[in-house]
Amino acid sequence: MTLSFSELALVEPIQRALRAENYEHPTPIQAQAIPHLLAGRDLLGIAQTGTGKTAAFALPILQRLAENRAPAPRNSMRALVLTPTRELALQIADSFRGYGRHMGLRTAVIFGGVSQGPQVDALRRGIDILVATPGRLLDLHQQGHVRYDGVSVFVLDEADRMLDMGFIRDIRRIVPLLPKQRQSLLFSATMPDEINRLIGTLLKDPVRVEVTPAATTVERIEQRVMFVDTGNKRALLASLLGDKTIARALVFTRTKHGANRVAEGLAKGGIGAEAIHGNKSQSQRQRALGNFRDGRTRVLVATDIAARGIDIDGITHVINFELPNVPESYVHRIGRTARAGADGIAISFCDHSEKGFLRDIEKVTRQKIAVAEHAFRASVGQGANGHGHNGSGGSHGHNGNGHNHGGHHGSGNGNGRGGEFANRRRRSRRGGGHGRPQGHAPAHA
Ligand code: AMP
Repeated sequence: MTLSFSELALVEPIQRALRAENYEHPTPIQAQAIPHLLAGRDLLGIAQTGTGKTAAFALPILQRLAENRAPAPRNSMRALVLTPTRELALQIADSFRGYGRHMGLRTAVIFGGVSQGPQVDALRRGIDILVATPGRLLDLHQQGHVRYDGVSVFVLDEADRMLDMGFIRDIRRIVPLLPKQRQSLLFSATMPDEINRLIGTLLKDPVRVEVTPAATTVERIEQRVMFVDTGNKRALLASLLGDKTIARALVFTRTKHGANRVAEGLAKGGIGAEAIHGNKSQSQRQRALGNFRDGRTRVLVATDIAARGIDIDGITHVINFELPNVPESYVHRIGRTARAGADGIAISFCDHSEKGFLRDIEKVTRQKIAVAEHAFRASVGQGANGHGHNGSGGSHGHNGNGHNHGGHHGSGNGNGRGGEFANRRRRSRRGGGHGRPQGHAPAHA
């Protein structure tokens, strides 16, 4: 599809800003969503970060706000975007400012963990676009600093992550406060039941736009699993990072302490690494992200929540130091590489206790992850996972009592690139013909 932005009926100041961003063509979600949003429809967008969804909602919102120059009432906003993390809030606000640079609209950001004074001040005069995390917004509302009567567009971004982070109750409290007459958009990468229920209360006759289901995004990423005992993970990580082709690696741990320990261990070994997680101050996080983005730090170690929405091009490798216990998190994590159409490599360490997580991930992504050999191979029980092996000297049998998906992964191709890519091609995007039992539809479908 080579639609151009000018075919999307976006006004000239937006076109100019897009040229400055070097955006040549709309991404699929932009091409599909923007015409409906310009026409004022509600929208259900099933998409994850990396698809261009921010511009998909920001561009039509800017255009509609610019067409109707009614000022926002005091302490209120004309467009309200709710998003789960402060990093994401900052990025979205930056996007609005960038795309709207020639439009003279005012954007503000609200999130917790910093003093509220400047946020209250920014709101006081009324704001065109407010990007907020739910907790601080409710807090300011309860203190009487926020009114919702100016809202004509409401965006709930990353709804599934809101659910994971326990924000759904906050959302349920905010929605009834919004004017009934409004345009509403909801974006989510996956569609758990609770999000489906929310759609009913939030959206009126929405257009549904679904792009790059997680499982297909994942197909662009070369994935490997390394079975390793817990105590050897740090040594394995250090040895992998000895390979200089790993230019920019994002390493995931399950806990904040884990992130600190891994980053400190690497730094002691002379590998430039920093950690970001919820216990770091906003300025520490911004600094670490900036260093990583600019290439001053080669390795960023992050927890899921801190990494959510990290929008950094050129991440060559995602390394799961620990596997996430929620399969969708795996998809989000590895999607940090392979941004903007690039390919990427994802390596997951899996110890004995994590094999169940691996199985769940493979079910959701409908892909079997190839096993890679390494010097710190786990000493026990790889066979239980049913992964084929043909690694040199591999003494680890596979008894196939895990999930043998229709025989595509017999023994012998689990470690071979050719085998894996051949398998990928054989699978259809939607799962037809992959030979696995149906009913493994990914949660995002
Ligand atoms: P998002 O999914 O909104 O997080 O966007 C992912 C990345 O794609 C961001 O770095 C955007 O700046 C970039 N992007 C969004 N739309 C386009 C486009 N039409 N052309 C090129 N890059 C884009």
